[in-house]
Amino acid sequence: MLQIYPVYAFNDNYIWILHNEKYAVVVDPGIAKPVIDYLNLKNLQLTALLITHHHNDHTGGIIELLEKFNVPVYGPQSESIATLTHLVKEGDEVSLKELCLTLNVLDIPGHTVGHVAYYYGKHETSMLFCGDTLFACGCGRVFEGTAQQMYQSLQKLADLPAETLVYCAHEYTLKNIQFARTVEPGNLKLEALENTVRALRSQNLPTIPTTILKEKMTNPFLRCDHPEIIQYVSKHLGKKLSNPVSVFSTLRSLKDNF
Ligand SMILES: [Zn+2]
Repeated sequence: MLQIYPVYAFNDNYIWILHNEKYAVVVDPGIAKPVIDYLNLKNLQLTALLITHHHNDHTGGIIELLEKFNVPVYGPQSESIATLTHLVKEGDEVSLKELCLTLNVLDIPGHTVGHVAYYYGKHETSMLFCGDTLFACGCGRVFEGTAQQMYQSLQKLADLPAETLVYCAHEYTLKNIQFARTVEPGNLKLEALENTVRALRSQNLPTIPTTILKEKMTNPFLRCDHPEIIQYVSKHLGKKLSNPVSVFSTLRSLKDNF
């Protein structure tokens, strides 16, 4: 029976541990200690590391984990991360035999230039590990790529099956909802979502995973063609925008300063 456990790290990072009764795979270990503690607690054997992009809060624990466990480290081909043993790109498959899972690699540049996601979609279960690209009700900053690339990467994720569980790497949901309500006040789903998320956070519970369907209904960065959002950014800029990439780019810079 597969379980997916969030290890909370730093201020707001999630390090996802996929495991069964015996074996574990870790996504984006920014720090080793809490991961090792969980593996010990559950008596799990680490079998692989999956890396989405090069930022230190996603890679900082790799070396310490490799000192304890000799395991393959999968990560983006077009980023230089010295500790990777298996370079992956769109179209590649990552076979996690001990968990009976095969993941598909997706290229999703924008936040960083070589950012990848890992997707599993079979039977009734679909799940996505998307690092810092798609967040619940938000998206990552565009640090290295272009707005066009980030927009296309988000569209690629939005095209995955609606029920796909989305495991992103940060707990930013509440702040993201506050921004979303500013730019799309008429979206009534956001108020209900904020209530749910506040209740979870008041008990220190994660608001992740989200789903693709939920994001399509609430995430402004996946709703750049919606009239209220177009109107909001057009008013802000003082000119009518209609191209969704321009709407996205303006929304992203508004969020950077929110
Ligand atoms: Zn990052």
